[in-house]
Parts: sequence; structure tokens; C-alpha cells
Amino acid sequence: MKVSIVSIGNELLSGRTVDTNAAWLAAEMLALNTPVVSGYIVGDEVERIVRTLRAACEDADVVLVTGGLGPTEDDLTREALAALLGVQLVFHQDLLDRIAGFFTALGRTMAATNRRQAYLPAGAQALHNSVGTAPGIAAQREHRRIFAMPGVPSEMQRMFTDGIKPTLKALNAGQHIVVRKLQCCGTGESNIAQVVGPLMARGRNPLINSTASQGVVTMHIIATAPSEGEALGMARSDEQLLREMLGPAVFGVEDQTLAEVVGGMLAARGMTLATAESCTGGLLAKLITDVPGASRYFLQSWVTYSNQAKTALLGVPTALIAEHGAVSQQVAEAMALGARKAAAADYAIAITGIAGPDGGSSEKPLGLVYIALAANDRLYCRRCEFGQPRAAVRLRAATTALDILRQELAG
Ligand code: AMP
Ligand code: MG
Repeated sequence: MKVSIVSIGNELLSGRTVDTNAAWLAAEMLALNTPVVSGYIVGDEVERIVRTLRAACEDADVVLVTGGLGPTEDDLTREALAALLGVQLVFHQDLLDRIAGFFTALGRTMAATNRRQAYLPAGAQALHNSVGTAPGIAAQREHRRIFAMPGVPSEMQRMFTDGIKPTLKALNAGQHIVVRKLQCCGTGESNIAQVVGPLMARGRNPLINSTASQGVVTMHIIATAPSEGEALGMARSDEQLLREMLGPAVFGVEDQTLAEVVGGMLAARGMTLATAESCTGGLLAKLITDVPGASRYFLQSWVTYSNQAKTALLGVPTALIAEHGAVSQQVAEAMALGARKAAAADYAIAITGIAGPDGGSSEKPLGLVYIALAANDRLYCRRCEFGQPRAAVRLRAATTALDILRQELAG
């Protein structure tokens, strides 16, 4: 069983309202083991809505529609559905009574225009709206099912949960989807695609997708099978294959972050960490302390933005800065050594770089960052070029620093 989602309303096209209904419904459908194969946004125009509904019916067995069920002239989902089905709109006195009762209960009188909401395409059923006036519509076109819901998110969610979800659950009892996520770092999305090759072929089951954000690539393994056990087995076996292919690039599963994984490794070894940051301004410390329980291993952080601070707080020699510049391997290493010593930590990470947008040169381009790691018997430094913009440089630098420590801890 497949689903298509149609969101109706001019406010969605103008960007005034973000289509959160589609996102919410997509998550619900995944939990119901049903893939969403397409989504459409269309304005308040009958002809266009009809064409869009027709396309959605070609894509999927179930079409979920939101919006356009209000009482005003621009709410045209009823008309469009009737046109799609080739039937008339039929007035239902019981629906009007219920709508009028909704207003009476609030001590208000119903406007004449609300009468529109008591019409349904011939042959369609009303879906009860327990939080608003607009009834939803359940219709069938050949074997396809169409469910139209109000656009107001709270009304839509309630109607879906109470009046539609149980039907879809029963319809789709024989299909299970398991999604397993693998988190990877230290290599790009295209590199991963090359290594993984045909495993990522479209139409394959499990389907493997990748998404990338600030240096972290997430591999989604989506297995579909008649039973949950089978789907789990398929996802597990693909996870094993991916782990063999990607090796140490895989750092975690599901929604684990690098900071969580690194923190877990430090805690397990009883090791401690300190950080010294320049261009990231404390972002690395922020990521580390986002993790509950970070006090078990995180001792201290310095934000040494000026040269004087690097010297006064971390003991970086002024001569070293004068000779190599604040953004250099030598200074990064001296910062890491200074931080490790001052905090009496097992590990210290230091970051110094040019976040931009000003301050680059041909020798030291914008986005150049040095990340140093000081350990008991080891001093390591990596030169990175993260380009621009500033926010991405800072986040990539902090992420890479965590990954350097992870690889060190993993041996
Ligand atoms: P409607 O049912 O078309 O009258 O929509 C009522 C209100 O619900 C709109 O004015 C929007 O604020 C909101 N809305 C409609 N569609 C969506 C959507 N897809 N996502 C989030 N909000 C929506
Ligand atoms: Mg609308």
C-alpha cells in the first residue's frame, strides 16, 4: 500500500504557512508501515486541485488531503472532489445540525456561509470533526481511497488519529517497514555512495538512502516485508554489509550524535577531556555538554579568541604566534598542550581557524582550521579547509574535532 499527500491552500504556496501537515502525516504513515510516495501542494483553484488529485490517485492507493474544507469561497476541496468523482454535491441536514450545534455550544450563531460545509460529494462519507466545524470527507475512486481533512493542524491530527488511522491500519495489516539509521563521519556522501554501490540502487528492498548535514552522513535502511521479524532481519543484514563496507566511518546508530558516542567512549575508559577554542567560540564545549552526564568526563573549556588570551590562559608563547600566526599548526598544538596541562586532563582538543567572511589570504584561505589533539603520549594536528559560510565552518570544525577524538579513542 502506498500513500500520496495533497496539501491545499494559497497560503502554502506563498510561503506564509509552512506545510507541517504533510510532514506530520508522513511520520504517521511511516509508523503505519506505509510509504509516502509523493506529495503535492496546490492553491485554491478547482481545476488545479482536480488535476492534482488525479495525479495523486495515479501514484498511490490512498490519498490524504488537507485544507480547503473551510466555510469560505476559497475553500474548494468539496467541489474538486465532486468533479474528480464525476458526482454532484449533496446537502446533508444532519451535518448542518451538527455544525450549528458546534456554534450553539460556544454561545455563538452560525454564519450562513457555514452551510457550505454540510455538502458532500454523492456517495462520500463524512468524517467527524471533534474540534472544529468542518467535517472531513472519505471517498473512494475505483479501489483508491481518498480522505480529505481540514487544514488546521490540530483538527487534522485529531481527525486522522480518530477517524482515518484505524482504517489504514486494518488495510495495511500485512506490510511492515523497519527503518534503521547508521551515522557516519569523516567521509563525504558521494564517497559513501561509491563505496556502497549497487546496495543503494533504486527499487531495491531494503531501500538505502543517505542524507548529509554538516559533515555527518546518515544512511537510512528501509526494509519492507510481510512481517516485522522479516523486515528487521533484512535491515540487520544490510546494516552488517554497510558496516563492513564503511568501516570506521560508521560512528553510531539511530539518532546518536558524535558527542554522545565520544562521551560514551571517554566515560567507559574513565578518561577526561578539556577543550580550547578560538574560531568556534565554545561551540565544541556546547556540543559536548549537550549530552546529559558530560560532567563524568568533561573538565573544562577555554574560549581564547585573542592572542593575549591564548598566551595568558594556555601558555602559548608570543613568539610562536608572531612567527606562525594564530591560525597555524604550531599554535593549535600549543593550545592543546596548554589546555591538557592546565586542566590536568587525559585529552585536550584545540581549534583555531578563520571562520570568515573576512580575514582570508592566499596562504590562509577562508575556512582554514587547525584542529589539534593532545594525549598522554601523542600530539596530533589536522589541517582542514571548510570553505564558507561562517556558521558551516564553525560547525564542521567542532564536528571534525569530535571525530578526531573518536578515531583516537577507537585506536
Ligand atoms: P483551511 O482548512 O484550508 O481553511 O486551512 C485553515 C488553516 O490551516 C490555514 O489558514 C493555515 O493556517 C492552516 N493550514 C492549512 N493547511 C496547512 C498545512 N498543510 N500545514 C500547516 N498548516 C496548514
Ligand atoms: Mg484554505
